[in-house]
Amino acid sequence: MTQRTLVILKPDAVRRGLIGEIIGRIERKAGWTVPAMELRTLDQETLETHYGEHKGKPFYEPLMGFMASGPVVVLVVEGERVIEGVRQLAGPTDPIAAAPGSIRGDFGTVTRENLIHASDSEESAERELKLFFPSL
Ligand code: ADP
Ligand code: MG
Repeated sequence: MTQRTLVILKPDAVRRGLIGEIIGRIERKAGWTVPAMELRTLDQETLETHYGEHKGKPFYEPLMGFMASGPVVVLVVEGERVIEGVRQLAGPTDPIAAAPGSIRGDFGTVTRENLIHASDSEESAERELKLFFPSL
């Protein structure tokens, strides 16, 4: 089942020089490829659309500020079961709850600054890919 998913390496990952480390883990999965990738600073409108489901939650405003605090890397990952697979590589939202060996488990300590976003379902992937890579 070949899929595409949308991944964002968050500003903390870029600031800490972890781009290569994280993309390396994704690239090492058999058959997975990165057909599109870009370093960008996200604008408010894109962020509001992307994180619309969380509007009104206590962490929403600080999340918006954090995600706009510096450049991010947005990338498309393609391959066998990538939607579930990249979420597994990332680990759960809270990095302290994330197992060692996962990206969040190995590098994170703070829930907001958890290094990576990955689409959580086929529907999210379709919506997010359209938002970040409309020409793809
Ligand atoms: P995920 O990124 O694992 O899908 P969510 O969609 O629940 O997690 O939340 C989106 C992002 O908002 C998280 O990755 C994290 O950066 C931030 N976040 C979520 N819950 C909290 C929280 N309780 N406190 C601070 N930040 C949070
Ligand atoms: Mg989510």
